[in-house]
Amino acid sequence: MQLVLATRNQGKVRELRELLQDLGVEVISLEEYKDFPEIEEDGTTFKENAIKKARETAGFTGLISLADDSGLEVDYLGGEPGVHSARFAGEPKDDKANNEKLLKLMEGVPLTRRTARFRCVVAICGPKGEVHTAEGTCEGIIGTDLRGEQGFGYDPLFYLPDYEKTFAELDLSIKNKISHRGRALLKAKDIITKMLSENQRGG
Ligand code: IMP
Repeated sequence: MQLVLATRNQGKVRELRELLQDLGVEVISLEEYKDFPEIEEDGTTFKENAIKKARETAGFTGLISLADDSGLEVDYLGGEPGVHSARFAGEPKDDKANNEKLLKLMEGVPLTRRTARFRCVVAICGPKGEVHTAEGTCEGIIGTDLRGEQGFGYDPLFYLPDYEKTFAELDLSIKNKISHRGRALLKAKDIITKMLSENQRGG
C-alpha cells in the first residue's frame, strides 16, 4: 500500500515520513513523479492550498495523497508571512533569504512583541476524490539570531521558551512531538488509517 506526499520539500518529507512510520504504509513523495508540474499555491488560506495540492496529487498519481500546507504567522507583522512563507523574500524559494528578511523586519522589536506560531493544515485525498483536513499549531518566539543546523525553513529563528532551544536545535523526534505538523498529523491519523483500510478492501 502506498501513500503519496504532495510535496518535494525534503524537510517536510523527512518529518512526515517519521510521523507516518507506524501506519505500515509505503510513503512516497512527488520526487518520484518528476513530470508532475509544480502546483500553483494561489489560495488565501492554508486549508485551500492543502486541499488543492492533495486533490491534484491524488488525481495525477491515482494514490491516496497527503498534502501539508504550512507557514509562520508573526504577530508583529500582522500574521505575515502566513501563506506566503515559502516565498517571503520572492522567487525562487530561498530559506536563507526568507530568514534574513524576517530578521531585518524584526530588528529592535522587544522580546514581548516577537510572538509567533507555525500553522499546518494537512489534507488527505482518497481515490474517489474525498478530502479530509486537520490543523495543528505551535507557539514560539522569533529569535534575534539564527541558531541550530537541523530542520528547514524558519526553524533556526523559531525559539521555544519551554525548551530554551530553536526548532533547528531540537532532534526531529522532539520537534515532531510538539510541532504544528506533528499535531495536525496526530489528528489526521485515524482518517488516514480508515482510508487505507477501505482502499485495501476495495471499498
Ligand atoms: P508550503 O510548502 O507552501 O506549505 O510552504 C511552507 C513554508 O513554510 C516552508 O517553505 C517554510 O518556509 C515554512 N515552514 C512550514 N513548516 C515549517 C517548519 O516546520 N519549520 C520551518 N519552516 C516551516
